[in-house]
Amino acid sequence: MKHCIITGANRGVGLALVTAYLEKGDWHVHACCRQPEKADALRELVTSHLGRITLHTLDVVDQASVDALAEDLKDLPIDLLINNAGIKGSKHQSRSDMDYDAWAETFAVNAMAPLRVTEAFLPHLKAAEGAKIATISSQMGAICHKGTGQYAYRSSKAAVNKVMSILAQEVAADGLICILLHPGWVQTDMGGAHADISPKESAGGIAETIDKATLKDNGSFFKWNGEPHGW
Ligand code: NDP
Repeated sequence: MKHCIITGANRGVGLALVTAYLEKGDWHVHACCRQPEKADALRELVTSHLGRITLHTLDVVDQASVDALAEDLKDLPIDLLINNAGIKGSKHQSRSDMDYDAWAETFAVNAMAPLRVTEAFLPHLKAAEGAKIATISSQMGAICHKGTGQYAYRSSKAAVNKVMSILAQEVAADGLICILLHPGWVQTDMGGAHADISPKESAGGIAETIDKATLKDNGSFFKWNGEPHGW
């Protein structure tokens, strides 16, 4: 049985990723969220997939929370880490109406936490053969993607793209495969009801893209459907 960790697993794309990996049949899913006791959908999956999914408390911006989970899972090889947790940030992120404190919080969740979490789990990932690190970014973080406003969200995703490109180079010698993915415009609390695709469609494409990724893809940025994404 392979093991994967998914952050922000209680709703949206994260929850759909949990379901996608459970449906594969050969994965044990470590579903992480801030309040497992309130994560009803995940708790139902625990009942329907006994012994195949474990819920964990994890706030990705809290170093003590990250360290506690890494310690709990000590000596367990992890085959896949999906850094999915993210926030859209404040309503006040236009040039003339910027909430700078909220911008910093958006950076902490979207840009800094994926490195914080990945670093804590590097021993677990290195203990598995050809483990993968997949970070859910956004097309809005691509310099080639035009659009105005939403400075906080766009810049935090641009930053995580760079963070993970650096990390990809640093972990290549350990045989780890580190990729970034744009999940599409997805019908979640963040994407809204009128978005293009369902969480299930997004998660299915993301899982297939991760599965196909090899060492030659290390450091690449993909769309949810496996096509390369421009930087
Ligand atoms: P949702 O808003 O539906 O879900 C976000 C998830 O992140 C929730 O589970 C939330 O937990 C979790 N989260 C937020 N902050 C923290 C934290 N500090 N610690 C742990 N978990 C946290 O978003 P989506 O599912 O739509 O987005 C998933 C990813 O995809 C994000 O990285 C997002 O930026 C990206 N994305 C989404 C797009 C879309 O169209 N939906 C488009 C492009 C990118 P809680 O319930 O506790 O708040």
